[in-house]
Amino acid sequence: MEPSTVKTIEGALDPATVTMIRNVAYLVASILFIRGLKGLTHPRTAVRGNLMGACGMLLAVVATLWAGGIVSWPWLIAGLVVGSIVGTVLAVKVPMTGMPQMVAIFNGFGGAASFLVAGGELFITLAKVSAADAGAASIGHEAIHAQFTVAISLSGLIGAVTLTGSLIAFVKLAEYKITWGGKKIWLSNSLLLPGRHVISILVTLATIGLCVAVVADPTTSLWYWLLVVAAAVLGILITIPIGGADMPVVIALLNSYSGLAACATGFVINNTVLIIAGSLVGASGLILTAIMCKAMNRSLANVIFATMGPTADGPSADDVYAGKIKSTSADEIAMMLDGAQRVVIVPGYGMAVSQAQHAVRDLANLLESRGATVEFGIHPVAGRMPGHMNVLLAEADIDYDKLLEMDVINPTLDTVDVALVIGANDVVNPVARTDPTSAIAGMPIIDIDKCRTVVVIKRSLSPGFAGIPNPLFAQDNTLMFFSDGKKAFVEITAAVKES
Ligand code: NDP
Repeated sequence: MEPSTVKTIEGALDPATVTMIRNVAYLVASILFIRGLKGLTHPRTAVRGNLMGACGMLLAVVATLWAGGIVSWPWLIAGLVVGSIVGTVLAVKVPMTGMPQMVAIFNGFGGAASFLVAGGELFITLAKVSAADAGAASIGHEAIHAQFTVAISLSGLIGAVTLTGSLIAFVKLAEYKITWGGKKIWLSNSLLLPGRHVISILVTLATIGLCVAVVADPTTSLWYWLLVVAAAVLGILITIPIGGADMPVVIALLNSYSGLAACATGFVINNTVLIIAGSLVGASGLILTAIMCKAMNRSLANVIFATMGPTADGPSADDVYAGKIKSTSADEIAMMLDGAQRVVIVPGYGMAVSQAQHAVRDLANLLESRGATVEFGIHPVAGRMPGHMNVLLAEADIDYDKLLEMDVINPTLDTVDVALVIGANDVVNPVARTDPTSAIAGMPIIDIDKCRTVVVIKRSLSPGFAGIPNPLFAQDNTLMFFSDGKKAFVEITAAVKES
């Protein structure tokens, strides 16, 4: 919105001053975003980085609404209060393990906001154009230029794909299960609909055609809303076939899309801070996507076209486990640890569920004080968020140098006396190496099965996110300690102290 055309709330300020104040605020907000992102690259500075980003966003929102003369101060403050209450309630109520779903929903809302703002701007512009045609305003068809229409079509396309793609990702991350024809189906896994490739190609072509129509014929908003509907269908079609080990890549990609949609909308409404913030989210999401693809040994095309994934029903849990499971106790584990020189702990999603990180640290410190070497094997997609395990272990003050990445720890695992696997399942499942039809085929895993003795701590023989049995549990050198992760580590620590 041009400053000369707005009535500022601070009536005393002339439009040029308002524009200058707004631009300075945008500059400061952009610096805060960039410094915030830098802070997020290390656990020690992450909280400060997060705060900087939040302050930058607050400044950008207040500056935009104030300088645009869009709302009065009481409304602005009321909006901030309501938003803060909703944010605080969500932050307090949603457990750490529910964060991935919440992030998925936020990505979706970002996409929806982008295409709604772009649609609103198109509506306003078309209204001004028709008023100009009637001689009542100073704007004509020439106001609808190429930057505007191209940006509008990109907002509609990326925003709607992000919304529906993120909603499907939400359902998958929430790990709902349904029973269909007497068979239990894990919605977190890929759903390969018959004829999906043909349907996807047709919808993609329709979406491209509608993008062209939006640019070629900016005299109506009909093409735009048809584009939004087609892109929404495309978002569903793209995300439904993806599942299992590919979900981390999809989350990173949708996060990037939400940024790109915001960036396109920034061009629609000529808002520099939205362009900058959107580009930062889009670029960092793409970098994360590339890291996740590398970690999962997948190409992006593999993931998007779901060319890998379960192609056949794998063996049932009964086939894998019957008669082969050996369970153990805290006292027995303490005896094994007593003579162990090298111990490796592999955390997974179950450590996050049981919030066992502090109990894990206590046992690690105790074993080290008795002369053992204790290291942590960290898989890049363990848990439900990129960096999930690193964050939890950093929270418990575990030295960063002890967290060894998969590539570093794998070649040395045959020298490990005792491996303690806490709540990890898919990331230590050897079928990723051996069964090309499995849901996690080709995913690099931590080769914990190569250690001399493996103790797996989890509550039952339930599968992990990918919904498949794990032959590691039935291996000769594996013992199962069926327990909540935190409780197990507290008991083992007590048993080691007594031994
Ligand atoms: P998994 O999901 O494979 O397994 C987690 C295990 O934790 C379950 O088998 C469960 O068994 C156990 N568990 C749950 N609660 C507890 C508890 N209180 N105490 C002890 N154990 C518990 O986790 P992984 O970390 O091995 O693998 C991550 C999976 O999530 C991969 O498939 C990955 O692709 C996917 N994913 C990862 C994302 C990321 O960004 N990191 C994002 C989306 C998906 P039981 O119920 O018997 O206790």
